[in-house]
Amino acid sequence: MYCENCKVVFEGGSCPACGSKKVRGVLPEDICFLTETDPMFGGMLRDVLEQNRIPVFSSSALGAGMALRVGPMFDQIRFYVPCENLPAAMELVEELFRAPALPELEGEDCKEESHERNE
Ligand SMILES: [Zn+2]
Repeated sequence: MYCENCKVVFEGGSCPACGSKKVRGVLPEDICFLTETDPMFGGMLRDVLEQNRIPVFSSSALGAGMALRVGPMFDQIRFYVPCENLPAAMELVEELFRAPALPELEGEDCKEESHERNE
């Protein structure tokens, strides 16, 4: 089923995100929530999706005003794709998440092994 509110596809009778029961069957042209990520990963994701000819829509989770206040790197970008492209887009997301976060530097010693986030 599909929730127009949250733009999510799910199994069952009510939306797992907002609990709404006003849901309907999904149509191929519906826009579906793909993932939420930081702007850096989001940029890569957008590139990969576009390379695969998947139309991608994004929105800032914070909204422009809040992003200005806390800085864009703290923002989260929500990505949406047409439902007919969702399975392919999901696979691309998984591949991206599995891939190393940093580009491999061939012939150079990796000076900093870990880029762990301290949050
Ligand atoms: Zn919902």
